[in-house]
Amino acid sequence: MVVGGGSAGWITAGVIAARHKSHSSDGVKVTLIESPNIPTVGVGEGTWPTMRSTLIKLGISETEFIRECDASFKQGAKFARWMDGTEGDYYYHPLMLPQGFPSVDLAPYWHKFTAGDPDPISFSQGVCFQEAACDAGLAPKLITTPEFGSVANYAYHLDTSKFAPLLQRHCTQKLGVTHILDNVVDVVSSECGDISHLVTKNSGNLEGDLFVDCTGFASVLLGKHFSTPFVDRSDVLFIDNALAVQVPYEREDTPIASHTIATAQSAGWVWDIGLPTRRGVGYVYSSRHTSEDEAHQELRAYVGPAIDKLSVRKIPIRSGHRATFWKRNCVGVGLSAGFVEPLEASALVLIELSAEMISQQLPACREVMDITAKRFNDTFSYRWDRIIDFLKLHYSLSKRTDSQFWIDNRDPATIPESLQNQVALWRYQSPGDHDFTSNNEVFPAASYQYVLYGMGFKTDFRYRAHMLADEKKAKEQFAQNASMKQKVLKSLPTNRELINKIHQHGLQKV
Ligand SMILES: Cc1cc2nc3c(=O)[nH]c(=O)nc-3n(C[C@H](O)[C@H](O)[C@H](O)COP(=O)(O)OP(=O)(O)OC[C@H]3O[C@@H](n4cnc5c(N)ncnc54)[C@H](O)[C@@H]3O)c2cc1C
Repeated sequence: MVVGGGSAGWITAGVIAARHKSHSSDGVKVTLIESPNIPTVGVGEGTWPTMRSTLIKLGISETEFIRECDASFKQGAKFARWMDGTEGDYYYHPLMLPQGFPSVDLAPYWHKFTAGDPDPISFSQGVCFQEAACDAGLAPKLITTPEFGSVANYAYHLDTSKFAPLLQRHCTQKLGVTHILDNVVDVVSSECGDISHLVTKNSGNLEGDLFVDCTGFASVLLGKHFSTPFVDRSDVLFIDNALAVQVPYEREDTPIASHTIATAQSAGWVWDIGLPTRRGVGYVYSSRHTSEDEAHQELRAYVGPAIDKLSVRKIPIRSGHRATFWKRNCVGVGLSAGFVEPLEASALVLIELSAEMISQQLPACREVMDITAKRFNDTFSYRWDRIIDFLKLHYSLSKRTDSQFWIDNRDPATIPESLQNQVALWRYQSPGDHDFTSNNEVFPAASYQYVLYGMGFKTDFRYRAHMLADEKKAKEQFAQNASMKQKVLKSLPTNRELINKIHQHGLQKV
């Protein structure tokens, strides 16, 4: 029984139904109940490349997804003004691994070859062609590339208010999910403490073996019914509010950015996501460091006076997550489990990872459920901690001193010890797979390299001279990246050109 019909509810219901053949008479029965009058959160437009495999699992065609969700291609994120706040201050976190990684680590060579250069090539430009593709507004593939196939690794930007309806239709018509539109007004436990049934306004009592709480920030089952403690992480990540606005393009053929743009402000940062028909823009800020009025003024300075005619929505954010995600016969997925600022679009990917683990490990009977619950809790506690570390890295390396927000963000008391230890090691060695030994990692070592070296961090390789032993091989890799860059710039269409073609002709089915 899945409660909630936002992205979390429908992705989880769909992934379970697809794997456990809910459309057949002997499959696992999946029911999703959602309120007809409590709206979904309505934001969350940036995904990870994992969304491609999720769509494949669900059996949704890429052409249909792009057409129906006003989706565009995303090849990474550009972080502007995070280092010193000046106009030319930016770096990229592309979605592709550095050239040759992990068999060749180009980081030491990049340090060596750029040392003393007054205008060095950036780390991401040197080791990956994707930054150039983003700068040119290019798509990650051609119209002849089959669905979900790629020339460059990619994710999507999408209109989340259109995604849930597509998932709903697909899950109910193709995957056998039963859909109930009603409000859950009470949650009733049996003597043993498990949830026995949900009380609804119009549909009577609904029983189930496993209840998935996808009720968003309300966290009706996990938070309210079970009073599962909330672990507040605002001591590390200060963002607690968002002002979101949809900005129309000036012209129909305005280029669509191929990357999320995250521009640092005095008390947070502005996200800017290009969809085919509009941009989604929002200022996520810390109310401890600025007022709503000031935040609105900063957002206005970013968007321009056109914002005066647009509707700006305020969304409060509670930075943190539940202490446990799976309690008795109830598991929380999505905002009901937790949320931290969307700096690296980590919310939808956690939903995908949760849905995958629940469906793979779906307990065969109650007797074994607590074992699965413990595994799930250990796995996701680890993942939340790593995500929080990675997001904090973006702040802790900043040199900005122009506002208290940035000064406070660098205060060691706000930086988790686990991150401080990693950074201490990376003063003498580049991030590598051995820094991340769990098979539950969310961000690979390469992501840490992009952020560290993008933000001007220097590793001192003096005790790792042997890592510079194969200059010939390294130079070949740099040259290969440069040559790929030329090829890609010549051959790929723009994001808008490819989106238009997909709307007209569709992509080839796999
Ligand atoms: C400002 C902001 C920006 C974000 N940006 C990104 C991003 O770029 N990338 C990313 O991955 N994620 C992002 N997210 C997160 C993303 O929006 C969510 O993770 C995602 O939309 C999933 O939401 P959800 O389904 O958990 O909750 P919701 O969308 O809120 O859905 C909750 C559902 O529960 C139902 N419900 C609630 N109470 C009851 C009840 N009593 N009875 C029955 N039904 C009930 C509602 O009707 C609704 O269907 C962002 C979030 C915010 C706040």
